[in-house]
Amino acid sequence: MSAALYTASLRLVWGGLNHVDANCFFLFLLLSRAIPLSAIAPPTKRRRSQLPASANLCDYCTAKCCHYFALAIDEPVNRRDFDFMRWYLLHDRATVFVDNDDWYLLVHTTCKHLRDDYRCGIYETRPQICRDYTTDECEFEDDWCYEKYFETPEQLDEYADALFGPQFPAPNLKECDILRSRRSTALPIA
Ligand code: SF4
Ligand code: SF4
Repeated sequence: MSAALYTASLRLVWGGLNHVDANCFFLFLLLSRAIPLSAIAPPTKRRRSQLPASANLCDYCTAKCCHYFALAIDEPVNRRDFDFMRWYLLHDRATVFVDNDDWYLLVHTTCKHLRDDYRCGIYETRPQICRDYTTDECEFEDDWCYEKYFETPEQLDEYADALFGPQFPAPNLKECDILRSRRSTALPIA
């Protein structure tokens, strides 16, 4: 913290403590590092490195891998393919992501056999895909990014429009119709 800022903070607290509220004093403590930022930061995710080497990660996890399924799909190459993919995204909890140039349909849905304690309710007879899944590269820390991630049909439309041009003729919107535009209000695609 600069000397000027520090001095200003001191003046704020000591010169007019009667007139400032507790928030100002808290701000001063932060600026002066009397309270470390880590003390107010939201709890961070537990990292693998914080656990003993012998720990079973699943004992420290809310069973993230049991809350979705993902299926490899063909890469869309034309407008028809994108329109088909748009149909996926018209459904609740369906998303599409791209990883290493491979396209996937990702559906956020919880396995019916996941118990409240995040254990498998059919552990002895769970499907092979569950048996094969390991903690080696699982989403325990889930801090990766996808190359592409589509959560809404509008996002996919914008992407396809950029590749192929508009699929639908531009509607003659009146001012009062704008709220019903098919254009997404979500974040723009990078
Ligand atoms: S395999 Fe990974 S994501 Fe799945 S329950 Fe275990 S730690 Fe969590
Ligand atoms: S069968 Fe068990 S391990 Fe497999 S997804 Fe369901 S709860 Fe998870």
